Amino acid sequence: MKNLNRRIFLIQSAALTSATLATQVSASDKKMKAAAPGERLSEADSYPKSMGFKLESKNVDKTRYPRHTTEQYCSRCQLYEGNATEGECSFYGGRIVPAAGWCKNFKLNKSAA
Ligand code: SF4
Repeated sequence: MKNLNRRIFLIQSAALTSATLATQVSASDKKMKAAAPGERLSEADSYPKSMGFKLESKNVDKTRYPRHTTEQYCSRCQLYEGNATEGECSFYGGRIVPAAGWCKNFKLNKSAA
């Protein structure tokens, strides 16, 4: 009887683990679908908004982001891939951001101009 209870416990644990993994994969899929490459990132969208994203770095709230400087903008970020006007941001799933944009995830690309 003790072995039977143990087997039932193990089977239930495996089922619960599978269900949890399926939920996590599903959430990840939704996130990927939400981040449509080629789409323009908007200041109004909730996630970019929570990251302080601005289409122009000069409009960043200095009170909220005191470490922001005018030297920080998308085309100088490691996650930006584009030209002098606009490019894709890998942090936002390849959405298009302006070269002059900014968000709090800015990481200086030391080889950028
Ligand atoms: S992660 Fe970098 S490239 Fe993307 S929006 Fe933020 S500052 Fe711009």
